[in-house]
Amino acid sequence: MQAVAEREFQIKSCVKCDGPLPTLVVGGDGPVREWECRNCGATYLASLSPTSPDQLRDTVKLSHYFPAHRDAATTLKVKDLERELRRHPRKPLMMSVPATKLDHDLFPVGDEFAVVTRNLSASGIAIVHSQSLVGKLAVLVELPDIGHVQLLLRIVRCKKVGSLYEMGGAFFDRR
Ligand SMILES: [Zn+2]
Repeated sequence: MQAVAEREFQIKSCVKCDGPLPTLVVGGDGPVREWECRNCGATYLASLSPTSPDQLRDTVKLSHYFPAHRDAATTLKVKDLERELRRHPRKPLMMSVPATKLDHDLFPVGDEFAVVTRNLSASGIAIVHSQSLVGKLAVLVELPDIGHVQLLLRIVRCKKVGSLYEMGGAFFDRR
């Protein structure tokens, strides 16, 4: 226990501007994401403490749900993504991609998991998973000519296919 306490620490105010932040844990075992102080733009690779007060959520912006690809990841507006997908239709694409569940503030819930993309079109994406999923997700897909793109999805349908579930997701923009 001692060793864990020594290598992780909690940040409750911005080290640059001293503004309040939700409790961010640096160096801990929780899922790491990239957070940005809305006041000064300082960024933190950290996990959000489960005990962090909700009223401080407005003080940070989640820049990257999947920090491993943050240098390569692009964020596209839905209308730009749709235009791109219409211009260059993709063949049915089955690949395993990282996903994370989102809560009503679009904050990540729990750890990353893998889903299989089944199709990607201008109207949305179909994903396959071992469990049925509801609500909102962030996924990271890789598109030819564009690279990694972080997509936000609202699950709009779900059906059981054999032992798996196929969900349809509609793209939406972050507020
Ligand atoms: Zn700051």
